[in-house]
Amino acid sequence: MDTVINTLTPITGRIHSIETCGTVDGPGIRFVIFTQGCPLRCLYCHNPDCRDPYAGTAVTVEELISEVKTYQPYLRKGGVTVTGGEPLMQPEFVAEIFRRCHELGLHTALDTSGYVQLEAAKPVLEHTDLVLLDIKSYEPNLYRKVTSVALEPTLQFARYLAEIGKPAWIRFVLVPGLTDPEENVKGLSQFVASLSNVERVEVLPFHKMGEYKWQQLGLAYVLKDVDPPTPEQVNKVLQTFRDQGLIAV
Ligand code: SF4
Repeated sequence: MDTVINTLTPITGRIHSIETCGTVDGPGIRFVIFTQGCPLRCLYCHNPDCRDPYAGTAVTVEELISEVKTYQPYLRKGGVTVTGGEPLMQPEFVAEIFRRCHELGLHTALDTSGYVQLEAAKPVLEHTDLVLLDIKSYEPNLYRKVTSVALEPTLQFARYLAEIGKPAWIRFVLVPGLTDPEENVKGLSQFVASLSNVERVEVLPFHKMGEYKWQQLGLAYVLKDVDPPTPEQVNKVLQTFRDQGLIAV
């Protein structure tokens, strides 16, 4: 007897939460899905509760899409963003969310650290209109200090996006005394300028809004005495990117 494949098995993933009218994770008003699980350990993470891949809530793509449809009229000039955590820890789940969003005519954005297996990411990228790629530093040792993982997979991912012409926004979190050394920022700006697919660079000033979550989780927050960057510090970094001919905001 032939094996019966149940094509009706719903694709399920784990999420931390959703935000129905986000305005900072891609163009326009967006339905933002925060997935659960992340292999990085960024010192400044404002969502440390998104890291554990076994926490959060299990949902089906169908359930998420039903919710998206409720907000569809508001999302016409925006779309759907999947962030995290690290969405590419659940590539089938995210690919299916985006595939269904495209069926609805909605723009899709993927927010990722790029610390992923390229082969696993490719099917997701087929249904992704825009990648928000977080490059947390350019000096390899500093990158490891900030994230606890290696830089190279992210650079490989960035180069692959350029190779396939996938529109990307690069995101860089500016932490005074940590990510701000001139050679680090300059190196990153030169690398980003070498990529033909980058539409803009977003410099995100470090903030401590997630500090209470570290306390709740019983984790040591090593940046507790670091202040957010001043407008002058932010402008200096923006200028470094602009000097390379990039649009930086
Ligand atoms: S990649 Fe994002 S979610 Fe993961 S540890 Fe870093 S800041 Fe937190």
